[in-house]
Amino acid sequence: MKMLLAGQWVDRDTRIEVRDPFDGSLIDTVPAATGDDVETALAAAEAARETARKLSTHERSQILTRTAAIVHDSLEEYARTIAREGSKTITEARKEARRAVNTLTLAGEEAKRLQGETIPFDSFPGGERRRGYFERAPIGVVLAITPFNDPLNLVAHKLGPAIAGGNSVILKPATVTPLSALKLTEALLEAGLPPDVLQTLSGHGPVLGDVLVGDPRVRMISFTGGVETGRHIAHQAGLKKISMELGSNSPVIVWKDADLEAAISSCVSGAFWAAGQNCIGVQRIYVHRDVYEQLRDGFIERTRQYRIGDKLDEATDMGPMITEGEAERVERWIREAVELGATVLTGGNRTGALLEPTVLADVPETATIHHDEVFGPVVNLYPVDDLDEALAKANSLDFGLHAAAFTRDVDTAFRLADGLQCGGVMINDSTDYRLDSMPFGGIKSSGLGREGTRFSLQEMTEPKVVCWHLGD
Ligand code: NAD
Repeated sequence: MKMLLAGQWVDRDTRIEVRDPFDGSLIDTVPAATGDDVETALAAAEAARETARKLSTHERSQILTRTAAIVHDSLEEYARTIAREGSKTITEARKEARRAVNTLTLAGEEAKRLQGETIPFDSFPGGERRRGYFERAPIGVVLAITPFNDPLNLVAHKLGPAIAGGNSVILKPATVTPLSALKLTEALLEAGLPPDVLQTLSGHGPVLGDVLVGDPRVRMISFTGGVETGRHIAHQAGLKKISMELGSNSPVIVWKDADLEAAISSCVSGAFWAAGQNCIGVQRIYVHRDVYEQLRDGFIERTRQYRIGDKLDEATDMGPMITEGEAERVERWIREAVELGATVLTGGNRTGALLEPTVLADVPETATIHHDEVFGPVVNLYPVDDLDEALAKANSLDFGLHAAAFTRDVDTAFRLADGLQCGGVMINDSTDYRLDSMPFGGIKSSGLGREGTRFSLQEMTEPKVVCWHLGD
């Protein structure tokens, strides 16, 4: 595929191979953007600010609604692209493609709901005979940087609100999964987006990143990715708005009165979705000691039923990790935990990029797999005796995206919802639950700002005040 730069689909001699992580087969190649391309993108994005701003609300809304329809009409093609270039099975990929349709539809609807307010200037002495309002103005050029694990929907979560808000956008999708983003770019153009309003650059993050991030023409960076990359970007950014959707290490608390079958089913899926490469994937489960053995045995049984393998096979439950190197990293972390005293209850074996869904117990707090984000198919079980202990342990790490609790008791549910330190608490669902319209984001090292169409739209626009002095 080609990349979109200054209104043209362009190619470069140096190309990046996009390979299927399951069998290494070549899917396609994309141009490797150069330093000159970054400069062209910045100049073109700046020049297109007015074009983007002057799109009427109904035009922005229609472009996004039409794009949603195009993705919907080619859903299977989008799903196959997601499944082939990334880690998801075809079933998981179809769900992501359907969610992207929702995200774009919501962004089209939110464009029409973007409103300001009148301001009562005369509410203080000195404001007499003044009338005015604020409206939400576009922020200008938005730089969107996205990760590999949701290669379509997380791009839609940035492009949708940015366009709804009247912004010009530079998109840098993940190096290993650029195809879904380029296909979405094609759909936006087909839906009527003026081509100079969006620059989609395929290429290597560290090569393109620093110049893009530091350039003053970029007024906002909307980043989703790892904590270390996020920290680096924040240091390089200078004086501009940043929104950071970063990693986590999500805790679940299962109480003694919970529906254990529901908890097991939801947490197994939440731990192993996309081979665990999910920012809200379940990593630590704190279980009341009275039901610990029952939950543990059910969890092992359900996990052992998982079929891993070819992502395009309808019967596959879990695919490979994004690269063999990533699978080796997680395997090393499992080995380290075992050396420190952890027990492998099931899984732990690796073939290439395929790592078995793995359940660990007795994991010491010093183990990397306890305190860092695993971003792989591993979940740790821990028995706990009371709610204070469960809360203290769940809150003990420097992450806070989602947390979850399973209980049938209303008081326990409220206590946990109140005490869990994070951006969202799911009661009787695993941490993996997300609706695309809700405010989504983390506290502590998990992020800054909130995504979710309506909330991103606020972040990607600024209040602009108009005040009339009516004369005395
Ligand atoms: P990553 O940080 O390696 O890369 C993310 C993006 O940043 C890619 O497009 C990459 O090319 C780019 N990049 C790398 N170096 C850069 C630089 N110096 N300047 C600018 N851009 C640069 O992350 P990943 O491995 O693709 O994704 C996994 C991470 O993303 C996990 O930590 C996961 O938790 C996180 N994530 C968070 C959310 C969320 O909404 N909070 C959602 C999905 C993934």
